[in-house]
Amino acid sequence: MVDRSNDPVVVIGLGRFGSALALELTRRGTEVLAIDNRPKIVQGLSGHITHLATADATDLETLQQLGVPDFYRAVVAIGDLEASILSASLLVELEIDDIWAKAVSQQHRRILSRVGVHHVVLPEHDMGERVAHLVSGRMLDYMEVDENFALIKTRPPKEYVGVPLGASNLRRKYGVTIVAVKREGEEFTYATAETELSYGDIILVSGRSDQIERFSELD
Ligand code: ADP
Repeated sequence: MVDRSNDPVVVIGLGRFGSALALELTRRGTEVLAIDNRPKIVQGLSGHITHLATADATDLETLQQLGVPDFYRAVVAIGDLEASILSASLLVELEIDDIWAKAVSQQHRRILSRVGVHHVVLPEHDMGERVAHLVSGRMLDYMEVDENFALIKTRPPKEYVGVPLGASNLRRKYGVTIVAVKREGEEFTYATAETELSYGDIILVSGRSDQIERFSELD
């Protein structure tokens, strides 16, 4: 299979999300064509991104003139519903192979999917959910890896301190797996059946979201 991970990317809409995305792709060595219809926004990024254009991404001819049809991958990062859907549907019409788009609501997400966008992200909604886990629980970090599967960073519950993980019954009792451990002042290392946790440790735990939640509520 051809590795497309470093192919050039078109980023449409350079608000907070789109500009952070375009700058990070550039920093990682990916070529970016970044488009926004506000000249000021484009000027502000000049010198930081290789290819920049002030243009209306809801216009088919404009996209063709900019060479967008030659790209394998594109991201629509416009919050305005009408402009986002129009520009995403043009990318579908141009048969871009890998189209990503940012949605600002569930309704927006559904429309983008129906139009033919391959991956829709809801950054504000997802971040809100993630922060809810951090604010209300004992988790230090929370990442939903898939619809119902999560990876969390947390402290070990009392009952698992000082017991080798292999003898802890953790997987049978809670359905979760301790993946890695960080001792105070050290780096993360993989957990093994012999690993014994201490109070100051930080652990990475993976499992189904409901099981992870139950585990993270233990004292
Ligand atoms: P954020 O919340 O990430 O800041 P916004 O929705 O506020 O996102 O920003 C979207 C960006 O998309 C703005 O910079 C805006 O100028 C740009 N934009 C809006 N409509 C178009 C369009 N038709 N063509 C190109 N860029 C557009």
